[in-house]
Amino acid sequence: MSISETSLGILKKYPLCNRCLGRLFAKLGYAWSNEERGESIKKIILMEYHRKIRDGDENALNEFKLIAKNMGKVSEEIYKLYFKDNLEPNNCIICNGKLNDFINTASLKIIEELNRMKVKNFLIGVRVDPKVLEMEDKIRSEFKLEYGESIKNEIKREIGKKIQSSSQFKVDFSKPDIVVEVAFPKLSIRNQIRSLIALGTYKKIVRGESIKKSDAEKKLINIIANKFNAEDIILYSIARDEKDTRVIGEGIHLIMEIKRAKERNIDLPTTFTNKGLIITIESLNEKYKSYLDNKEKIMNRIYRCLIYCENDVSEDNINIINQIRNKMIEQNFNGKKRLGTLREIKCNKISNNLIECLILIDEQIYIKELINGNKSLSSISFLLNNNCSCIESDLLSSSPF
Ligand SMILES: [Zn+2]
Repeated sequence: MSISETSLGILKKYPLCNRCLGRLFAKLGYAWSNEERGESIKKIILMEYHRKIRDGDENALNEFKLIAKNMGKVSEEIYKLYFKDNLEPNNCIICNGKLNDFINTASLKIIEELNRMKVKNFLIGVRVDPKVLEMEDKIRSEFKLEYGESIKNEIKREIGKKIQSSSQFKVDFSKPDIVVEVAFPKLSIRNQIRSLIALGTYKKIVRGESIKKSDAEKKLINIIANKFNAEDIILYSIARDEKDTRVIGEGIHLIMEIKRAKERNIDLPTTFTNKGLIITIESLNEKYKSYLDNKEKIMNRIYRCLIYCENDVSEDNINIINQIRNKMIEQNFNGKKRLGTLREIKCNKISNNLIECLILIDEQIYIKELINGNKSLSSISFLLNNNCSCIESDLLSSSPF
């Protein structure tokens, strides 16, 4: 059967708007809208009827009277011509005649939303009432139509096209800033905005504070969230922040997830401070997230420690520990064993029993216990054959080894 014969069969039974009829043949013809397809098919059918009616075919006239209602607007004028009356069209059985308006209204609303969210690109998701999908499927299978597309597809594509042609926003299939989900036919919009992933550093120029679960942290997070107009911020990769250890020098490398940020174009680098805690965001890039997946990665830390020992420390002992390289250290906390490497140590004697050391260790090793030997199988105290404790420490760097 030809397209117009098939369509005639469909339209005799079901009222369809141009879009919904055209969509049943969406894969035929190229670079046309379904609206154009539907209208063209209807016009051909109308011309056939017109020919028969002009040739005096009474049956055709009666048939036309019924089918005109199912065709809608396109048959209005011919209907008037023959019946001297206004056509009262039936609403489209699939979309209830709402699809065209829906696409226009939804596009405008989404543009508003995208403006509000200050994103650059987007992706459209569509939810359609199952009853609408069922009706569409029913017609497709009843008339064995193979070249159609789903109403979901059409809504998605048409809204995407409309937004792109009337705003600066671009569709991005792989990494959209925001996924906007529209529901049809009852228009509602939900959005899922992509988190920003930031790379930066954490420093702390005071003692007695920590960024782990403190009020100072909450305040600092709030300051950052406000700047990005974000709902939440998650700090990754700060394994530990000892309260009385400053974090200076290069600081701790930091990865941060900024959730549902509406302000996405901040000049970088930018620095945030609260109570001596300092976070600098260097750059934003999705790819930093992959650092988080790599759990195997060994982080190392460089500490500067001022160490006080009960007995005098000899130059010989200093020389011995200064030659230590890659020594395995085992620590036990609450029955949990921690294994890591003391990679390098460099000490200077300040007075008889006071030394200052630069210590490079794996992140999982706790520095104070490494020095005093508490919960530590090997320690600086043990290596110096002395009782030593860390009286002041600074973390100078924490980065992947
Ligand atoms: Zn329709």
